Amino acid sequence: MRETKQSGITIELKRGDIANQPEIAAVVNAANAELRIGGGVAGAIHRAAGPELTEETRSMAPIEPGEAVISGGHNLPNEYIIHCLGPVYGEDKPEDKLLANCYSNALDLAEDHQIERIAFPSISTGAFGYPMKDAARVAFQTVQEKMNGLEYVSLIRFVLWSEGDIAVHEDVMEEVFG
Ligand code: ADP
Repeated sequence: MRETKQSGITIELKRGDIANQPEIAAVVNAANAELRIGGGVAGAIHRAAGPELTEETRSMAPIEPGEAVISGGHNLPNEYIIHCLGPVYGEDKPEDKLLANCYSNALDLAEDHQIERIAFPSISTGAFGYPMKDAARVAFQTVQEKMNGLEYVSLIRFVLWSEGDIAVHEDVMEEVFG
């Protein structure tokens, strides 16, 4: 499945670029501790948002693995950017707990800001080396655990880079929600 509705919340998979999600109030950045431009998701987001983003996030850095902070969207089509630092696989432990904290803290920030539509990339699965299937399981299980407590969030989109990444997430979605 590519979409499921659970307790009134739509969870969907979409192939694309996290920096090009116009209909979403908050996009999540797979950030680095310094909240600077980097490779992958952080590169795409900072390039599209512009240098004012780095200006804003400078005073919030550094952040710890599992932590999330929120900024404005600047030149992105989104009102907010939620920056999460995922664990480096094999280094920051326990990695599953730290990755779950990213999703949980991001959703808490979304609720605090009355955000209805949020989009996540697959945090930690690029430069940080987290196996995607395991990371998807953590992401969906965390969403499932928090679902009943969400008052404002009604759409959670997972934006994935390739068809292969979508296929992995489809399997895990079926396993967790099916
Ligand atoms: P991390 O450092 O947390 O591992 P990365 O940005 O290196 O984060 O990668 C996280 C995931 O996002 C990887 O699966 C990567 O393929 C994917 N990715 C890279 N660029 C984009 C983008 N512009 N939009 C969505 N996903 C992306």
